Amino acid sequence: MAQYTRVSGSVGLITLQSPRVNALSAAVRQGIVDMMQRALSEPEVKSVVICGQNGIFCGGADIKEFGKNMSGPPLIPMIHAIEAASKPVVAAIEGIALGGGLELALGCHYRIAHAKARVGLPEVTLGLLPAAGGSQRLPRLIGVPAALDLITTGRHVTAAEALKLGIVDQVTDHNTVNVAVKFAKRVAGQSLDPRRISTYPCPCPSDADALFEKAMQKVRRAARGAIAPVACVQAVRAAATLPYNQGMEREKELMATLFTSGQARALQYFFFAQRAVGKWSMPSGARWETSKPRPVHKAAVIGLGTMGRGITVALAQAGLSVVAVETQEKQLMEAKQAISGMLERGAKRSGVAPALDKVSYSHNIQPVADVDLVIEAVFEDMALKKKVFQQLSAVCKPGTFLCSNTSGLDIDHLACQTRNPELVVGMHFFAPAHVMKLLEVVYGPKSSPHAVATAMQLGKKIGKVSVAVGNCRGFVGNRMLKPYLEQALFLLEEGATPEFVDQVLEEFGFAMGVFRVSDLSGLDVGWRVRMADGLAQPDPTTGQPVRVRQGRRYSPLGDLLCEQGRFGQKTGRGWYQYDKPGSQVAKPDPWLHSFLDEYRTRHGLVARRIDHQEVLERCLYSLINEGFRILEDGIAAGPEDIDVIYVFGYSWPRHRGGPMFYAATVGLNKVLERLEHYHQAHPDVPSLQPCRLLRKLVAGGSPPIHKWREVIKKVHSQL
Ligand code: NAD
Repeated sequence: MAQYTRVSGSVGLITLQSPRVNALSAAVRQGIVDMMQRALSEPEVKSVVICGQNGIFCGGADIKEFGKNMSGPPLIPMIHAIEAASKPVVAAIEGIALGGGLELALGCHYRIAHAKARVGLPEVTLGLLPAAGGSQRLPRLIGVPAALDLITTGRHVTAAEALKLGIVDQVTDHNTVNVAVKFAKRVAGQSLDPRRISTYPCPCPSDADALFEKAMQKVRRAARGAIAPVACVQAVRAAATLPYNQGMEREKELMATLFTSGQARALQYFFFAQRAVGKWSMPSGARWETSKPRPVHKAAVIGLGTMGRGITVALAQAGLSVVAVETQEKQLMEAKQAISGMLERGAKRSGVAPALDKVSYSHNIQPVADVDLVIEAVFEDMALKKKVFQQLSAVCKPGTFLCSNTSGLDIDHLACQTRNPELVVGMHFFAPAHVMKLLEVVYGPKSSPHAVATAMQLGKKIGKVSVAVGNCRGFVGNRMLKPYLEQALFLLEEGATPEFVDQVLEEFGFAMGVFRVSDLSGLDVGWRVRMADGLAQPDPTTGQPVRVRQGRRYSPLGDLLCEQGRFGQKTGRGWYQYDKPGSQVAKPDPWLHSFLDEYRTRHGLVARRIDHQEVLERCLYSLINEGFRILEDGIAAGPEDIDVIYVFGYSWPRHRGGPMFYAATVGLNKVLERLEHYHQAHPDVPSLQPCRLLRKLVAGGSPPIHKWREVIKKVHSQL
């Protein structure tokens, strides 16, 4: 809806009214059309101001209308009518003007923004482009390079930057609507011809071809197969090379392609999935609405290695006081330097003072006595972690939440070491912890809803996307990674090379293939875990073959590389070779190829030609199958939780929606049929055996992903 009032005698004020962000729903569009007509027909009205209620101009199109039959007046003619109006129209931008909201403002003759407002065209992040004239007007207003940047990245800009770029005409610290009304009175009667952006020529540099070629290369590299950024470049190119009307036609054509591509659907699903994970629930029935978080003002981090440093920075940057504890004197000194450096660089980037005084350092645990929450990040060693939790339980004030950053150890074992196991949860960050968006909040059987709510709230405060998950080996992310890694190793045994497997996965859209990632994170990490689990060496008492553990197929390839000191990038050798230790440029390694040949000969394996499809299906479908098991076990509440974890924590390509959405796109019956096929060929690999929930979903006619929760509930009730 839109409300109309006459203010200051001669100004028609149109206020968009649609909670929460005044999205351009059919009702709002109808309201704007009607109120504009009224303002234009009233002789006393000399100019018009458009604003939004509750301090928000407009958040853009109503995403709930996507994919449905459009009702109400269409956006493009509405914006054209505003631009063509005979009386000046001023946009009073408070809060946000995003997507269609900014396109509406670009149709106005003037734009006044509040100093705290942000504007942008984020359509690309939903697999679309600004198709209500945004791709044609913005380059005409601010030039091709700046428009390309904004439209292909979807980034939001502050009012100050918008003023500098020329998107807005004025920025104010005062009441924006009052300022806009005064402004509108001043410009009433002035010629509007110079204010209609669609009539502007597009300022384009002489080397336009080279500029667009470079832009195209850049977005193709970053897009990892996403087509919307490419279409955005094509649309801006149309603005630069075609008359406005033809450019609008091109914008429409490109939008039609995007709409039907499937990627837009995946990205829109993902948009809602991010919201869904905030509404967490536990199998006990505890839920986000009924579980109150406790305030956390002061926190402690125990262990200042790779993870502890990043976690400390994330907490301090969010304004928390942090006690940072490290027992090794040398590590403590290095950590102090590293943390201060990270805080200073972060502050410089965001133009604020570094939060150095928020962090106090200690080499013993006593100063954590008065903190509200502790995050333990010592070595991944259960005995050590148990000891630390015993100490924390003895030292901390009553009510302190005790959290572990373990990558996959049992949270319940740690909780059992404390006086108040209900206060213990996992807070599983991803490296680098101050950068990566994902946080898995792991509840054990004894964790209280308050503890989960507090960890989720803290995650939000420090800018993370937090997902609540149940307690099991590897939680959600690392548990699903296990069969994926396992398949990659089996493929090497059967004849593939690390380069080929990585190439297939990177073409699919992962930032890095499985072997490049292993080299980056260090092969020794998993090796130590396998050694602790007694897997890295065959058990001599059982007489089982080297490639079998606990009756299942096992590949010792990773262990053999570690025995040779090949830990990945850090040692300059792993699945690839590097110029020197620490270098990031991976090159195929002839040594590794001969090693694989010898290995196959030693174990009587005959290398065969493995194609693209087999690599993709075995790696991805085994991971997806584990995802279904996780849903079946109630470790994740729904497919959205898994998808958010995979996109934010494991670089799953966002335009494919996440592994569970991808499975739905491929077709659950196809995933089932291929898993059955591979399991028949490899009966000693249990992770390829299709799980019950997948079979159940297929038997139920493969319902759409938003209906899976109902099926999962039924499966749980039958257990
Ligand atoms: P790290 O080896 O870099 O650092 C561990 C630090 O803990 C060391 O500085 C060590 O001196 C210190 N420490 C050991 N005992 C201590 C004690 N009693 N009190 C205080 N400090 C102590 O390890 P990391 O990579 O930062 O991993 C830490 C934890 O985070 C592990 O549980 C790991 O599984 C988990 N994790 C790691 C990653 C990763 O990518 N590195 C990602 C997610 C989670």
